[in-house]
Amino acid sequence: MTRVELHHGGASDVGLVREANEDAYLAAPPVFVVADGMGGHDAGDVASRFVVEEFAALAESGITGSDADKAAERVAATFARVQERIAAYEAEQQDAGAVGFNAGTTAVVAVLVEQDDHARWLLANIGDSRIYRYTDTHLEQVSVDHSVVQEMIDAGSITVAEAATHPSRHVITRALGAAASGEADYFLLPLPAAERLLLCSDGISGMIDDQQIADILADTEDPRDAADRLVAAAVRAGGRDNATAVVIDVVGLAHDMPYDSDAERLSLEEKLGALP
Ligand code: MN
Repeated sequence: MTRVELHHGGASDVGLVREANEDAYLAAPPVFVVADGMGGHDAGDVASRFVVEEFAALAESGITGSDADKAAERVAATFARVQERIAAYEAEQQDAGAVGFNAGTTAVVAVLVEQDDHARWLLANIGDSRIYRYTDTHLEQVSVDHSVVQEMIDAGSITVAEAATHPSRHVITRALGAAASGEADYFLLPLPAAERLLLCSDGISGMIDDQQIADILADTEDPRDAADRLVAAAVRAGGRDNATAVVIDVVGLAHDMPYDSDAERLSLEEKLGALP
């Protein structure tokens, strides 16, 4: 396995308009998640918390060093468990008299995995939260939004610029939740092609544009500060939605160099004398 060290930062803010923060995030290396819940208080916040809880369990269960295919199966199984929990919670609320109770959530996920002795990013997306990669002053959206406006862009009926102000810009076509289709898209990226990853809710990408995101990522070395500054910029721009950002830096990446524990031990012995 390539030697990889990850530095990360995460931040979330309720914003200036919403009463509750229905976003949630997880930074539990090698697993990182942002989820944007929908349905209001006691619905969206619960749904996004289910995502974080289930992926925290995945991180704790020891996914480090998993190969990409197995990891993708486990991520899919984790999404399925979230889906089941949301459905059970909805049924519970409806039985208790909450007619038409509806909870759902988006999810973007990044997991460090191994494939052919190389570390890679396994990325997954459901909904309109986003995964960006940032390398050498270049920002690129990796995930493709599951949204009505993205479908209109793909069909050529509106431009990306028009989508930013379109009345349907918040309508998503996929989500986790009983009433939704939960099929995720998966992406596998080599680490050198994504030295800095950003996972964010639409409360970031809907409030500040890609150029502003790129400028903050370029100017802010520490990923903790970068996450804070992205959230602060979204709030300053109006804060019309909950805003959440997780920034992950790949540091100490030794290209194509397999980890050799014997060699490590040998050089330590040279330095320190015989080890026990
Ligand atoms: Mn949102």
